[in-house]
Amino acid sequence: MSIETPASPDRSDFIRDIVAADLAAGRHATIVTRFPPEPNGYLHIGHAKSICLNFGIAAEFGGRCHLRFDDTNPTKEEQEYIDAIEADVRWLGFDWGQHLYHASDYFEQLYDWAVHLVRADRAYIDDLSADEIREHRGTLTEPGRNSPWRDRPVEESLDLFERMRAGEFPNGARVLRARIDMAAPNINLRDPVLYRIVHAAHPRTGDAWCVYPTYDFAHGQSDAIEGVTHSICTLEFEAHRPLYDWLIENLPVPSRPRQIEFARLNLTYTVLSKRVLLRLVNEGHVRGWDDPRMPTISGLRRRGFPAEGLRDFAAMIGVGKADSTVEVGMLEHAVRDVLNRTAPRRFAVLNPVRVVIENYPEGQVEEMDVVNNPEDPSAGTRRVPFTRELWIERDDFMEEPSAKFFRLAPGREVRLRAAYFVTCREVIKDEAGEIVELRCTYDPSTRGGNSPEGRRPKATLHWISADHATPAEVRLYDHLFSRPDPGADGRDLFADLNPDSETVLGGCLLEPALAGVRQGETVQFERLGYFAPDLDSTAGHPVFNRTLTLKDTWAKLQAQGRHDTA
Ligand code: ATP
Ligand code: MG
Repeated sequence: MSIETPASPDRSDFIRDIVAADLAAGRHATIVTRFPPEPNGYLHIGHAKSICLNFGIAAEFGGRCHLRFDDTNPTKEEQEYIDAIEADVRWLGFDWGQHLYHASDYFEQLYDWAVHLVRADRAYIDDLSADEIREHRGTLTEPGRNSPWRDRPVEESLDLFERMRAGEFPNGARVLRARIDMAAPNINLRDPVLYRIVHAAHPRTGDAWCVYPTYDFAHGQSDAIEGVTHSICTLEFEAHRPLYDWLIENLPVPSRPRQIEFARLNLTYTVLSKRVLLRLVNEGHVRGWDDPRMPTISGLRRRGFPAEGLRDFAAMIGVGKADSTVEVGMLEHAVRDVLNRTAPRRFAVLNPVRVVIENYPEGQVEEMDVVNNPEDPSAGTRRVPFTRELWIERDDFMEEPSAKFFRLAPGREVRLRAAYFVTCREVIKDEAGEIVELRCTYDPSTRGGNSPEGRRPKATLHWISADHATPAEVRLYDHLFSRPDPGADGRDLFADLNPDSETVLGGCLLEPALAGVRQGETVQFERLGYFAPDLDSTAGHPVFNRTLTLKDTWAKLQAQGRHDTA
């Protein structure tokens, strides 16, 4: 697998070059693009690439981008998906203005154009079943065979098409096909199906229709109706382009859009197929479409990924013509880059052990000034209460420290961030031998975290006042799949699910300022990672998701020049 190399966000690409050349040649007055989701699932990070590309080009060239639902398959489409898609595109930071469209807005026009093709002897009603049509289609090496219905009189096809529309026939009884060439080397030109009978209510048109256009028939014509100049889609549609052009040429459409294909996004440790994502949801492998482990835009949002990070990622990977797989670490790198600049730092203890400072006055509370974000002086400071009894991270203490362990240990002094130096004097255990308390002393001259004599402890720990701590649930997330190429080499995709993708921790403790974090904000728990409040939070029971750890392995590999091997 090859890995795309990052580029500067303002780099041009082959699509932008085409658009610029078309403008320079005066072929269009205004550039019009569109993002055309099928509302049969939630949008994922691959769609984000397409959204950033289509809306980005429109903005850069002073044009506009339409949001158009490709809603031609009512059995798989739902209002819930339509609503989620609109919310996700908006959240990503894009605005379609008044240009919200649906292929279903054009059903009447598309039907008329289908009739036009029949009249022109360029389409016919075929009574073969779906299986028979497949058998007649031929293969890559063999030509197809004509349907026995291919030369049916125009009047008969017109009559049958009308009766199909009127609901006289059951699903699958007959279809409308273009009459092109059953021996065409491109299978898409072997009399492709344009309309099929589907007796199903449509989210928008209700029961008005029981014949629905195929994607191929709806897409290019919708583009032409809307005056789309550049119809940008993924590479799997490259072989459909001759059909796209054939339809545009053979119909009295009001404009001539041009289809351009680019390579879809693939990510390591990730599956970007709505069919698989739907199964993950339906079979209960995740909490829902917006589970923080899902590569959906709503999942990434719930996880705490900022929209800016997704947009930066799209700019980093650029647009190409060759299929490739991007390391998921690159997405995480783009997100960390934003969060490092913007996320307020806070104290939280995930696995607490109690510290009692024996020489600190009982009942005293000191408000310590703590910097909110060392990367952003304008973020200011906050006050964090300090008291005699504190919580620190259990991992930050070792009774018998190993050679490389510099944090708290018996007799050793460490700094409590922005507070005091403390020294461990005694370890208290319960009957089972479990450490329950660390008795410490503090040096009052080190207030704020600095010693007047310049003593420098080797470790600085975060802490929370036991009198002021809020209990919380914290959910740690890892990749949903345990392998970089889930399901490759014929393995069962679901066998590659990572059993440790979610770890739920109870009894975590938060500093008071964390009560004020709103949905959609992401903070850094100092020394632990980036975290965002989950939708499951209630007033008495905060829940935080770990967005990402602090460690950026992608940037490290990059620095070692190893990012191009995978
Ligand atoms: P899937 O293949 O995931 O089931 P789809 O690609 O058919 O879904 P659509 O709703 O038709 O989903 O996609 C809307 C637009 O997003 C299309 O133009 C499609 O080419 C683009 N798109 C879908 N997946 C990706 C991807 N992984 N990378 C880039 N663009 C994508
Ligand atoms: Mg599609």
